[in-house]
Amino acid sequence: MPTPYAYFRGEIVPLSEAKIGIMTHAFNYGTAVFEGIRGNWNADEHTIYLFRMREHFERLARSCKILMLDLHESIDRLCEIAVEIVERSGYEEDVYLRPMVYKSSEAVGVRLHDLESQTLMFITPFGPYLDIEKGARCHTSTWRRVDDTGIPPRAKVTGIYVNSALAKTEAQLNGFDEAIMLNADGHVSEGSGENIFIVRDGMLHTPTPADNILEGITAQTVVQLAKEELGIPTIQRVIDRTELYIADEIFMTGTAAHVTPVIEVDRRPVGDGKPGPITRKLMALYFDVIRGKHPKYKHWCTPARVRVAQG
Ligand code: PMP
Repeated sequence: MPTPYAYFRGEIVPLSEAKIGIMTHAFNYGTAVFEGIRGNWNADEHTIYLFRMREHFERLARSCKILMLDLHESIDRLCEIAVEIVERSGYEEDVYLRPMVYKSSEAVGVRLHDLESQTLMFITPFGPYLDIEKGARCHTSTWRRVDDTGIPPRAKVTGIYVNSALAKTEAQLNGFDEAIMLNADGHVSEGSGENIFIVRDGMLHTPTPADNILEGITAQTVVQLAKEELGIPTIQRVIDRTELYIADEIFMTGTAAHVTPVIEVDRRPVGDGKPGPITRKLMALYFDVIRGKHPKYKHWCTPARVRVAQG
Protein backbone atom coordinates (compact mmCIF):
# COMPACT_ATOMS: atom_id res chain seq x y z
CA MET A 1 0.00 0.00 0.00
CA PRO A 2 1.37 3.45 -0.84
CA THR A 3 2.00 5.68 2.20
CA PRO A 4 2.42 9.39 1.55
CA TYR A 5 5.57 11.01 2.94
CA ALA A 6 6.32 14.69 3.45
CA TYR A 7 9.34 16.91 4.05
CA PHE A 8 8.72 18.89 7.21
CA ARG A 9 11.11 20.77 9.53
CA GLY A 10 14.17 19.33 7.77
CA GLU A 11 13.12 15.68 7.77
CA ILE A 12 11.17 13.24 5.65
CA VAL A 13 8.26 11.98 7.76
CA PRO A 14 4.91 10.26 7.14
CA LEU A 15 2.48 12.92 5.87
CA SER A 16 0.19 12.23 8.84
CA GLU A 17 2.91 13.54 11.19
CA ALA A 18 3.46 16.87 9.38
CA LYS A 19 1.30 19.42 11.22
CA ILE A 20 1.56 23.19 11.72
CA GLY A 21 0.29 25.24 14.66
CA ILE A 22 -2.76 27.46 14.32
CA MET A 23 -0.71 30.61 15.03
CA THR A 24 1.59 30.00 12.05
CA HIS A 25 2.01 33.32 10.22
CA ALA A 26 1.45 31.83 6.74
CA PHE A 27 -1.83 30.23 7.83
CA ASN A 28 -3.09 33.55 9.20
CA TYR A 29 -1.89 35.90 6.46
CA GLY A 30 -1.27 33.84 3.30
CA THR A 31 2.48 34.54 3.52
CA ALA A 32 3.78 31.47 1.71
CA VAL A 33 4.86 30.60 -1.80
CA PHE A 34 4.46 27.22 -3.41
CA GLU A 35 4.85 25.07 -6.49
CA GLY A 36 3.02 22.21 -8.10
CA ILE A 37 5.14 19.55 -9.76
CA ARG A 38 3.69 16.60 -11.58
CA GLY A 39 5.09 13.11 -11.37
CA ASN A 40 3.87 11.23 -14.44
CA TRP A 41 3.54 7.46 -14.22
CA ASN A 42 5.20 5.45 -16.99
CA ALA A 43 3.86 1.90 -16.54
CA ASP A 44 6.27 0.32 -19.08
CA GLU A 45 9.27 1.57 -17.14
CA HIS A 46 7.62 1.28 -13.72
CA THR A 47 8.83 4.82 -13.10
CA ILE A 48 7.37 8.16 -12.13
CA TYR A 49 8.90 11.00 -14.15
CA LEU A 50 9.02 14.35 -12.38
CA PHE A 51 8.51 16.95 -15.07
CA ARG A 52 10.82 19.98 -15.18
CA MET A 53 11.32 19.75 -11.44
CA ARG A 54 14.40 21.99 -11.40
CA GLU A 55 12.57 24.80 -13.23
CA HIS A 56 9.78 24.61 -10.63
CA PHE A 57 12.28 24.91 -7.77
CA GLU A 58 13.98 27.80 -9.56
CA ARG A 59 10.62 29.58 -9.79
CA LEU A 60 10.05 28.79 -6.10
CA ALA A 61 13.35 30.52 -5.30
CA ARG A 62 12.26 33.59 -7.31
CA SER A 63 8.90 33.65 -5.50
CA CYS A 64 10.81 33.53 -2.18
CA LYS A 65 12.78 36.60 -3.18
CA ILE A 66 9.62 38.59 -3.83
CA LEU A 67 8.07 37.56 -0.49
CA MET A 68 11.31 37.89 1.53
CA LEU A 69 11.28 34.22 2.45
CA ASP A 70 14.56 32.47 3.29
CA LEU A 71 14.95 29.29 1.29
CA HIS A 72 17.29 27.18 3.42
CA GLU A 73 17.69 24.29 0.94
CA SER A 74 19.68 24.44 -2.31
CA ILE A 75 17.90 23.64 -5.58
CA ASP A 76 19.90 20.38 -5.76
CA ARG A 77 18.78 19.41 -2.25
CA LEU A 78 15.13 20.18 -3.09
CA CYS A 79 15.41 17.91 -6.14
CA GLU A 80 16.82 15.09 -3.97
CA ILE A 81 14.03 15.51 -1.40
CA ALA A 82 11.37 15.40 -4.13
CA VAL A 83 12.72 12.15 -5.60
CA GLU A 84 13.00 10.59 -2.15
CA ILE A 85 9.39 11.47 -1.25
CA VAL A 86 8.11 9.94 -4.49
CA GLU A 87 10.22 6.80 -4.11
CA ARG A 88 9.34 6.26 -0.45
CA SER A 89 5.61 6.92 -0.92
CA GLY A 90 5.26 4.08 -3.41
CA TYR A 91 2.48 5.37 -5.68
CA GLU A 92 2.10 3.66 -9.03
CA GLU A 93 0.02 6.39 -10.66
CA ASP A 94 0.26 10.09 -11.53
CA VAL A 95 1.20 12.17 -8.50
CA TYR A 96 1.54 15.82 -7.60
CA LEU A 97 4.24 17.28 -5.39
CA ARG A 98 3.55 20.45 -3.46
CA PRO A 99 6.67 22.24 -2.21
CA MET A 100 6.02 25.33 -0.10
CA VAL A 101 8.16 27.93 1.68
CA TYR A 102 6.22 29.65 4.41
CA LYS A 103 6.53 32.19 7.20
CA SER A 104 6.64 29.69 10.01
CA SER A 105 6.88 32.02 13.04
CA GLU A 106 3.94 31.76 15.39
CA ALA A 107 3.56 35.52 15.56
CA VAL A 108 0.63 37.91 15.21
CA GLY A 109 1.30 40.98 13.05
CA VAL A 110 1.10 41.65 9.33
CA ARG A 111 4.54 42.01 7.77
CA LEU A 112 7.16 40.11 5.81
CA HIS A 113 10.31 41.02 7.77
CA ASP A 114 11.66 39.55 11.02
CA LEU A 115 9.93 36.21 10.61
CA GLU A 116 11.32 32.67 10.34
CA SER A 117 10.80 30.66 7.15
CA GLN A 118 10.52 26.91 6.67
CA THR A 119 10.22 24.63 3.66
CA LEU A 120 7.77 21.75 3.36
CA MET A 121 6.85 19.34 0.61
CA PHE A 122 4.06 16.80 0.33
CA ILE A 123 2.73 14.34 -2.23
CA THR A 124 -0.75 13.39 -3.34
CA PRO A 125 -2.10 11.13 -6.13
CA PHE A 126 -3.37 13.37 -8.92
CA GLY A 127 -5.30 12.44 -12.04
CA PRO A 128 -6.60 14.81 -14.73
CA TYR A 129 -7.69 18.28 -13.55
CA LEU A 130 -9.87 19.34 -16.48
CA ASP A 131 -11.50 17.13 -19.14
CA ILE A 132 -8.62 16.93 -21.59
CA GLU A 133 -10.47 14.83 -24.19
CA LYS A 134 -13.69 16.80 -24.34
CA GLY A 135 -12.17 20.22 -23.70
CA ALA A 136 -13.23 22.98 -21.33
CA ARG A 137 -16.21 25.31 -21.51
CA CYS A 138 -15.07 28.68 -20.19
CA HIS A 139 -16.47 32.06 -19.38
CA THR A 140 -14.95 35.47 -18.81
CA SER A 141 -14.82 35.98 -15.08
CA THR A 142 -16.30 39.03 -13.40
CA TRP A 143 -13.26 38.77 -11.10
CA ARG A 144 -10.23 40.62 -12.47
CA ARG A 145 -6.74 39.12 -12.17
CA VAL A 146 -4.85 40.74 -9.28
CA ASP A 147 -2.25 43.25 -10.37
CA ASP A 148 1.51 43.31 -9.86
CA THR A 149 0.84 46.49 -7.86
CA GLY A 150 -1.44 44.50 -5.48
CA ILE A 151 -0.27 40.93 -4.98
CA PRO A 152 2.31 40.07 -7.66
CA PRO A 153 1.01 37.10 -9.72
CA ARG A 154 4.57 36.42 -10.92
CA ALA A 155 5.18 34.97 -7.46
CA LYS A 156 3.17 31.84 -6.69
CA VAL A 157 1.83 33.17 -3.37
CA THR A 158 -0.71 31.06 -1.49
CA GLY A 159 -2.83 34.11 -0.60
CA ILE A 160 -3.21 35.05 -4.27
CA TYR A 161 -5.25 31.90 -4.84
CA VAL A 162 -8.24 33.58 -3.20
CA ASN A 163 -8.46 35.50 -6.49
CA SER A 164 -8.32 32.21 -8.42
CA ALA A 165 -10.81 30.49 -6.11
CA LEU A 166 -13.36 33.30 -6.51
CA ALA A 167 -13.07 33.02 -10.28
CA LYS A 168 -13.13 29.20 -10.39
CA THR A 169 -16.18 28.91 -8.15
CA GLU A 170 -18.07 31.59 -10.06
CA ALA A 171 -17.36 29.70 -13.31
CA GLN A 172 -18.38 26.30 -11.95
CA LEU A 173 -21.51 27.51 -10.16
CA ASN A 174 -22.56 29.14 -13.44
CA GLY A 175 -22.15 25.82 -15.24
CA PHE A 176 -18.72 26.34 -16.84
CA ASP A 177 -15.53 24.34 -16.33
CA GLU A 178 -13.04 27.15 -15.99
CA ALA A 179 -12.72 30.93 -15.73
CA ILE A 180 -10.75 33.25 -17.98
CA MET A 181 -9.68 36.31 -16.03
CA LEU A 182 -9.04 39.73 -17.53
CA ASN A 183 -6.42 42.01 -16.01
CA ALA A 184 -7.14 45.46 -14.58
CA ASP A 185 -6.85 46.93 -18.13
CA GLY A 186 -9.53 44.54 -19.41
CA HIS A 187 -7.14 42.40 -21.45
CA VAL A 188 -6.93 38.63 -21.32
CA SER A 189 -4.71 37.43 -18.49
CA GLU A 190 -5.09 33.73 -17.62
CA GLY A 191 -7.28 30.99 -16.16
CA SER A 192 -7.65 30.35 -12.44
CA GLY A 193 -4.66 28.01 -12.59
CA GLU A 194 -3.63 27.98 -16.25
CA ASN A 195 -2.03 30.12 -18.92
CA ILE A 196 -4.00 30.67 -22.10
CA PHE A 197 -3.11 30.48 -25.80
CA ILE A 198 -5.15 31.33 -28.86
CA VAL A 199 -4.47 30.13 -32.40
CA ARG A 200 -4.98 32.67 -35.19
CA ASP A 201 -3.73 32.23 -38.75
CA GLY A 202 -1.68 29.19 -37.79
CA MET A 203 0.30 31.00 -35.08
CA LEU A 204 0.10 30.87 -31.29
CA HIS A 205 -0.66 34.05 -29.37
CA THR A 206 -0.42 34.36 -25.60
CA PRO A 207 -0.51 37.26 -23.11
CA THR A 208 2.75 38.91 -22.01
CA PRO A 209 4.40 38.61 -18.55
CA ALA A 210 3.17 42.19 -17.91
CA ASP A 211 -0.48 41.04 -18.21
CA ASN A 212 -0.39 39.74 -14.61
CA ILE A 213 0.15 36.10 -15.44
CA LEU A 214 2.14 33.44 -13.66
CA GLU A 215 5.01 32.75 -16.04
CA GLY A 216 4.12 29.13 -16.65
CA ILE A 217 6.53 26.26 -17.13
CA THR A 218 3.99 24.30 -19.18
CA ALA A 219 3.48 27.38 -21.38
CA GLN A 220 7.24 27.63 -21.91
CA THR A 221 7.29 23.91 -22.78
CA VAL A 222 4.49 24.30 -25.32
CA VAL A 223 6.15 27.33 -26.93
CA GLN A 224 9.34 25.29 -27.40
CA LEU A 225 7.52 22.19 -28.70
CA ALA A 226 5.45 24.29 -31.12
CA LYS A 227 8.58 25.96 -32.49
CA GLU A 228 10.96 22.99 -32.61
CA GLU A 229 8.61 20.16 -33.53
CA LEU A 230 5.85 21.89 -35.52
CA GLY A 231 7.59 25.04 -36.79
CA ILE A 232 4.84 27.18 -35.24
CA PRO A 233 5.90 30.52 -33.72
CA THR A 234 4.37 32.07 -30.59
CA ILE A 235 3.69 35.78 -30.31
CA GLN A 236 3.43 37.25 -26.81
CA ARG A 237 1.18 40.26 -26.96
CA VAL A 238 -1.81 42.01 -25.42
CA ILE A 239 -4.99 40.07 -26.25
CA ASP A 240 -8.55 41.46 -26.23
CA ARG A 241 -11.50 39.53 -24.85
CA THR A 242 -13.26 39.50 -28.24
CA GLU A 243 -10.26 37.78 -29.83
CA LEU A 244 -11.32 34.77 -27.78
CA TYR A 245 -14.61 34.78 -29.73
CA ILE A 246 -12.95 34.68 -33.15
CA ALA A 247 -9.89 32.51 -32.43
CA ASP A 248 -9.49 29.38 -34.57
CA GLU A 249 -8.43 27.40 -31.49
CA ILE A 250 -7.85 28.07 -27.79
CA PHE A 251 -6.08 25.96 -25.20
CA MET A 252 -4.94 26.31 -21.62
CA THR A 253 -1.67 25.09 -20.14
CA GLY A 254 -0.66 24.29 -16.59
CA THR A 255 1.00 21.63 -14.49
CA ALA A 256 -2.42 20.44 -13.29
CA ALA A 257 -4.32 21.14 -16.53
CA HIS A 258 -1.58 19.83 -18.89
CA VAL A 259 -2.70 21.09 -22.32
CA THR A 260 -6.50 21.40 -22.22
CA PRO A 261 -8.49 22.49 -25.28
CA VAL A 262 -11.05 25.25 -24.75
CA ILE A 263 -14.14 24.49 -26.82
CA GLU A 264 -16.42 27.34 -25.77
CA VAL A 265 -16.03 30.88 -24.41
CA ASP A 266 -19.01 32.89 -23.16
CA ARG A 267 -21.41 30.50 -24.97
CA ARG A 268 -19.67 30.93 -28.32
CA PRO A 269 -18.06 27.80 -29.79
CA VAL A 270 -14.32 28.04 -30.40
CA GLY A 271 -13.79 27.13 -34.07
CA ASP A 272 -16.25 24.31 -34.72
CA GLY A 273 -16.62 23.60 -31.00
CA LYS A 274 -14.15 20.69 -30.97
CA PRO A 275 -10.46 20.57 -30.03
CA GLY A 276 -8.56 22.00 -33.02
CA PRO A 277 -5.77 20.34 -35.07
CA ILE A 278 -2.85 22.39 -33.69
CA THR A 279 -4.07 21.86 -30.13
CA ARG A 280 -4.35 18.11 -30.74
CA LYS A 281 -0.84 17.91 -32.21
CA LEU A 282 0.59 19.79 -29.25
CA MET A 283 -1.29 17.58 -26.79
CA ALA A 284 0.05 14.40 -28.41
CA LEU A 285 3.62 15.69 -28.28
CA TYR A 286 3.26 17.01 -24.73
CA PHE A 287 1.88 13.76 -23.29
CA ASP A 288 4.78 11.78 -24.78
CA VAL A 289 7.27 14.30 -23.47
CA ILE A 290 6.00 14.36 -19.86
CA ARG A 291 6.02 10.56 -19.53
CA GLY A 292 9.65 10.39 -20.67
CA LYS A 293 8.71 8.87 -24.05
CA HIS A 294 10.35 11.52 -26.25
CA PRO A 295 14.14 11.00 -26.29
CA LYS A 296 14.92 14.60 -27.27
CA TYR A 297 13.21 15.96 -24.16
CA LYS A 298 14.03 13.18 -21.70
CA HIS A 299 16.31 15.59 -19.81
CA TRP A 300 13.13 17.36 -18.61
CA CYS A 301 12.04 14.17 -16.84
CA THR A 302 13.65 13.08 -13.57
CA PRO A 303 13.01 9.39 -12.83
CA ALA A 304 11.78 8.29 -9.42
CA ARG A 305 11.91 4.51 -9.35
CA VAL A 306 9.02 3.21 -7.36
CA ARG A 307 10.35 0.55 -5.02
CA VAL A 308 8.79 -2.83 -5.69
CA ALA A 309 7.71 -4.49 -2.46
CA GLN A 310 9.91 -7.45 -1.52
CA GLY A 311 8.64 -10.99 -0.96
N1 PMP B 1 -1.34 30.48 -13.89
C1 PMP B 1 -1.69 30.18 -12.63
C2 PMP B 1 -2.48 31.17 -11.85
C3 PMP B 1 -1.34 28.95 -12.07
O1 PMP B 1 -1.71 28.64 -10.82
C4 PMP B 1 -0.62 28.01 -12.86
C5 PMP B 1 -0.27 26.67 -12.28
N2 PMP B 1 0.95 26.67 -11.60
C6 PMP B 1 -0.26 28.38 -14.16
C7 PMP B 1 -0.63 29.62 -14.65
C8 PMP B 1 0.53 27.46 -15.03
O2 PMP B 1 1.87 27.36 -14.58
P1 PMP B 1 2.70 26.03 -14.78
O3 PMP B 1 2.58 25.66 -16.20
O4 PMP B 1 4.09 26.43 -14.42
O5 PMP B 1 2.13 25.02 -13.87
